[in-house]
Amino acid sequence: IYTLAIESSCDDTSAAILCNDKVLSNIVARQAIHEEYGGVVPELASRAHQQNIVPVVDVALKKANVTKNDLNCIAFTQGPGLMGSLLVGGSFAKSMSMALQIPLIAVNHMKAHILAHFIDEENFDKPTFPFLALTISGGHTQIVQVNSFFDLKIIGETTDDAVGEAFDKSAKILGLPYPGGPLIDKYAQEGNPKAFRFTKPKVDGLDFSFSGLKTQILYFIQKNQAVNPNFIEENRNDICASIQHTIINILIDKLKLAVQQTGIKQIAIGGGVSANSGIRKTLKETESKWGWKTYIPKFEYTTDNAAMIGIVGYYNYLENNFDTNDIVSKARIEF
Ligand code: ATP
Ligand code: FE
Repeated sequence: IYTLAIESSCDDTSAAILCNDKVLSNIVARQAIHEEYGGVVPELASRAHQQNIVPVVDVALKKANVTKNDLNCIAFTQGPGLMGSLLVGGSFAKSMSMALQIPLIAVNHMKAHILAHFIDEENFDKPTFPFLALTISGGHTQIVQVNSFFDLKIIGETTDDAVGEAFDKSAKILGLPYPGGPLIDKYAQEGNPKAFRFTKPKVDGLDFSFSGLKTQILYFIQKNQAVNPNFIEENRNDICASIQHTIINILIDKLKLAVQQTGIKQIAIGGGVSANSGIRKTLKETESKWGWKTYIPKFEYTTDNAAMIGIVGYYNYLENNFDTNDIVSKARIEF
């Protein structure tokens, strides 16, 4: 089964070709324009998608050595995401499925971040059901109980900022460019995680909160910079390591509680922040420490990519779960 998948929920235009559960190509066109603005500008994102979508799909087909007539179905991101961005990928997918007369499959972006683990890759195990997924991305922070490809239940989520936002906003306070998450990760590797202490938010149950941490970091930096204008410069690595350490602690605490509550000890992480080296390392350590089995996705399937949309498309294809052309894109979407 050849699947063409299209992802355009935020600022990356991506197209992938899958043969069953194997990825033949996964092309991502990044939009550098947003760096100048310190965040994604929705109107500019949607315009860039318009320019990128045709060449990106073209390259994906060529690289996979597949022609459009070989395709069996088209999967696309229905939501959640930026409406103007979603509409570009959605309209393109609909037109192409109509022209080729092949099934159309609408995919939930957050489910795809989780189910990316089912892409067949050498040296990467697939989780077995049921497992817990921790989705940590630019717009979401969720703990999901995954019972099957089609039965996913959110059991905890953030009440304010997402983890990715916590990273990016902390980075902004430190004067780092957008998106700052990867930079905090880089500097943290050279720093002492216990150099500075930040308190963890008190949130009941499996929910998260990150906006208080951001404010705490802002005040901490303002206070220290007032005394020593070179404070950030002189302590950059230690500050980054301490911020990252706090965020990881918050995540691991909630995962521990989720394991306790569900009795499920299989944990998969997904979403852009799962690229973080500290999170990967800490999660791996839980295997010998607490007997968890952990799944960490291949790097290219962590941030937004069409391959993860394609794998969900493929499993829906096998069940004949098709959508009709009147399906609409949704900025927010139920699970
Ligand atoms: P959503 O999936 O919720 O709609 P999104 O698609 O915009 O959001 P992703 O592309 O999954 O988000 O992830 C982007 C986020 O991941 C950014 O906040 C970025 O800073 C963060 N990120 C990427 N790499 C790292 C890293 N190594 N350490 C920390 N954060 C990282
Ligand atoms: Fe995403």
